[in-house]
Amino acid sequence: ARSTLKTAIQGEPGSVAVIIPSRPDALSVTYSELVAEVTKFQQKLAAIGIAHTSAVSIATINSYEFIVSFLAASWQRAIAAPLNPAYKQDEFEFYIDDVRSAIVLVPRGAYAAASPAVKAAKRFNAAIAECYWDPAKREVALDVKELGQLQGKAAQPLLTAEPDDVALVLHTSGTTSRPKVVPLSHRNLTITMNNIKNTYHLTPKDRTMLVMPLFHVHGLLCGLLAPLATGGSMVVPTKFSAKDFWVDFTTHKASWYTAVPTIHQILLKNPTPSPLPTIRFIRSCSSPLSPTVFHALEKTYGAPVLEAYAMTEAAHQMTSNPLPPAKRKPGTVGLGQGVEVVILNDAGAVLPQGAEGEIAIKGKNVTGGYLNNPAANKDAFTKDGYFRTGDQGKKDEDGYIVITGRIKELINKGGEKISPIELDNAMARHPAVSEVVSFAIPDEMFGQEVAVAIVLKPGQKLDGEALKKWVAERLAKFKVPKKVYFTDVMPKTATGKIQRRIVAETMLKQEG
Ligand code: ATP
Ligand code: MG
Repeated sequence: ARSTLKTAIQGEPGSVAVIIPSRPDALSVTYSELVAEVTKFQQKLAAIGIAHTSAVSIATINSYEFIVSFLAASWQRAIAAPLNPAYKQDEFEFYIDDVRSAIVLVPRGAYAAASPAVKAAKRFNAAIAECYWDPAKREVALDVKELGQLQGKAAQPLLTAEPDDVALVLHTSGTTSRPKVVPLSHRNLTITMNNIKNTYHLTPKDRTMLVMPLFHVHGLLCGLLAPLATGGSMVVPTKFSAKDFWVDFTTHKASWYTAVPTIHQILLKNPTPSPLPTIRFIRSCSSPLSPTVFHALEKTYGAPVLEAYAMTEAAHQMTSNPLPPAKRKPGTVGLGQGVEVVILNDAGAVLPQGAEGEIAIKGKNVTGGYLNNPAANKDAFTKDGYFRTGDQGKKDEDGYIVITGRIKELINKGGEKISPIELDNAMARHPAVSEVVSFAIPDEMFGQEVAVAIVLKPGQKLDGEALKKWVAERLAKFKVPKKVYFTDVMPKTATGKIQRRIVAETMLKQEG
């Protein structure tokens, strides 16, 4: 019964759901106020003709208006399609075209300023509306600037979503190829919400710091929706700030947060807060967390660090390390959480514990298939109904999953497969190294050779030969990098993801 985004929201009417800590005074919203606000916004969408399967693109930063418009679209049986508000016009055009947006929601003032999202929306005749918190009316405004393709469309009744309706479309990050469009149903989302709730024993008392962007599954599912499904609450800064993070955390007595390793590392570089009496756990997800950073986090903040493993196609979480007293193992992503996880060989047969192969999953959280992409769907699902993640890995002696790299990013040196993550972890332990990314470069002799890009810590010196020696003392000789590139900045995606392909291209180009 709790398998739609409307029925899954479970909070005491009077308890706080969302806190927006914009200074000087914070906006605090209870569950009953949130439900009323979403219903009002759903009426506004219905009035301009938004209905079953209409794509509603949301191009606003993390905010109350994002939360309200996202929920309202899904309650109206429409499809929410969040977009990174920092995209350039070309990127907006790509995504708006791909999901056939009926309307694009933009921040206040974007229309007059002809923002990139507005220009892109015009090209595809999508309706354009500014969406913002109106402090005078104390409500979320839907200020329609152009009706576009909704011109002349009749007002719709308030609809009720079904569990198998698509509620959300997102693109994969495009790390390994062109971003793929992933439709996720209400059922997919609510299954993940429940899995996350169970993994971390979330209760109405829990409060999270939501600092991951809401236009990706990490922030949306784990930061926003899972807490809403447990009657808990969240603090939502408009953007991540290392300076404000612990101030907000302690002021609002938060109990946990989830983030990518890059954010954890930024936090560690800033002053350590006084004791954090309310912290229960820290979750890390979306990119590999090096054991070095894992230990630094636990030591600095005095809370268990739980690394999880997720992907867009799985509506975020697949596995996670468990809470104490169960054991957490740095360098692993833990156990399947309401999701069956197996390791497959190329032929699609399940491999025994310890053997390395492709990580594959089965669960009701997994998308029914990519949109308009039969070729990708054919490759992604096995005849036994497993979804192939594209990640290489194995189960350790306790059944914990160890990710060794992306299949497309494994370094193939004359048939010898080398895990870039293992190499990264080995070099991250060097005291002079701040960031490290290993990748393949073409090689006449072996087909591919190992290369590495390094960012040094401020004031530190290290030369390529010394680094190679460091690796040779720790790993087999064939894994020692042939080339070492030193760089000041490591190219990353908006979510702090490393794209080895892009790092490789950038380093090879710099070399000339
Ligand atoms: P594309 O599918 O377009 O190439 P992408 O796979 O990066 O891009 P996402 O769905 O955002 O798109 O990311 C999922 C991937 O992120 C996983 O398949 C895995 O490679 C990586 N990932 C997630 N969590 C972890 C983790 N804890 N450790 C290592 N890798 C992780
Ligand atoms: Mg992927």
